[in-house]
Amino acid sequence: MQQKLNLYNTLTRKKEEFEPLHAPLVGMYVCGPTVYGEPHLGHARSAVTFDVLYRYLKYQGYKVRYVRNITDVGHLENDADEGEDKIQKRAKLEHLEPMEVVNHYTNIYHNEMQKLNVLQPDIEPRASGHIIEQIALIQEILDNGLAYVVNGSVYFDVLAYNKDRKYGKLSGRNIEDLIGNTRTLEGQDEKRAPFDFALWKKASPSHIMRWPSPWSDGFPGWHLECSAMSRKYLGTSFDIHGGGLDLMFPHHECEIAQNQASCDHSDGARYWVHNNMITVNGQKMGKSLGNFINLSELFSGNHEMLEQAYSPMTIRFFILQAHYRSTLDFSNEALQAARKGYTKLMNGLRVLKKLEYPKDATAVEPDAKLNEELQKLAQDCFRGLNDDLNTAKTIASLFNLLKKINSLHLGQIKMEQLSRGTFDLMRDTFQELVLHVLGLQEESIGDMDEVLNLVLGFYKEAKEQKAYDKVDTIRAELKKQGIAIKDMKTGIDWAYEE
Ligand SMILES: [Zn+2]
Repeated sequence: MQQKLNLYNTLTRKKEEFEPLHAPLVGMYVCGPTVYGEPHLGHARSAVTFDVLYRYLKYQGYKVRYVRNITDVGHLENDADEGEDKIQKRAKLEHLEPMEVVNHYTNIYHNEMQKLNVLQPDIEPRASGHIIEQIALIQEILDNGLAYVVNGSVYFDVLAYNKDRKYGKLSGRNIEDLIGNTRTLEGQDEKRAPFDFALWKKASPSHIMRWPSPWSDGFPGWHLECSAMSRKYLGTSFDIHGGGLDLMFPHHECEIAQNQASCDHSDGARYWVHNNMITVNGQKMGKSLGNFINLSELFSGNHEMLEQAYSPMTIRFFILQAHYRSTLDFSNEALQAARKGYTKLMNGLRVLKKLEYPKDATAVEPDAKLNEELQKLAQDCFRGLNDDLNTAKTIASLFNLLKKINSLHLGQIKMEQLSRGTFDLMRDTFQELVLHVLGLQEESIGDMDEVLNLVLGFYKEAKEQKAYDKVDTIRAELKKQGIAIKDMKTGIDWAYEE
């Protein structure tokens, strides 16, 4: 358990032991949602992945500052810096102010994340609230001669940058390949080279979201906010930058270029961590492919691809039972299996609550071999997490530990065979990892009205049999739960105890 956390760093293409710059402080930045539509399974995967990393770092005693942004401006229709702002487009469609669209979908995002038991970040900065910082960053890049102004727009000069540094170091692409692959798109005339990207765009007359700048009334390019906001809240060099694999290029590549081209000359983060995508029948899930499922649809079962509704904890378990760097294929079977796995862990928690180590457990000698075996099983649970946050391995190890917990419950293993230390280790490992690191929590099951009606049925039966002891017991027990039984001429009902 003293083993250290290792993370796969996209920048170096290998697993590295995680060493914070200023332990016990850890700075982590994760690209958050663009709020112009409902969050879907892809959003959930990224949020849950970095939630577990956040939780595990805190569990290890680090003081983590977790920054996850809200992109509420400037995210354009395509990578070519052209087209319409997605938020503005939605605002026009729905006859709303862009900021109404932003607020509406931000609230939905927060609600859905809460259902998934995703902890809130420590800082959740919005791009629209950091225009000044973004303008300052552009000015630095211009001053360093690595950007140019055309007709009120500012573009990053990739070729100039590439003379001393390497554009493509994160994604492993090189300029020569990019030249070959990039078609010249219409409306790209302002750029010196097709792979140059916008730092500032002059707004067309119909563009609603616009701010004054030294170059034009306009809006920042879509890679800029993460450079500006990570620097503001975490410093010029910080520990972890996370996001979906689809953001590695061009978004994170451009972030690194901007950071290097600023006065800081740093990559920003030292560990770049990317979660893989959700697929449907092997195909990427995405808005443009029309095969994406919103979280609200998953929770309600209201989508043609869904055989039933799936609870938030089922979705969370589904995400965690795969390693974050593997693709995760959606299917009803996989979600149903996830439900079973989740339920197993919850039953484990219930069993553990009932188990108690006897106060005078000296009658039987502890079984050395069994104790050793249990300690190893507990360590395996951490080994999975330390191995690049492999929650799939950790869950498999938790199931192994659960077998022993169930054996104890069934009396197949006697409690006295374990030392007090082993018992505590087993219990703490299971509870802490399931509840606080994996972030799985109990969901209320079934319909409480139905359960209460069943109890009222027993109450009625007891009254008819004049079994008044039983009648009183049921009354008293329900009262403890804040429920009062009402005997009425028309029948028996219940109400909240007033
Ligand atoms: Zn970002």
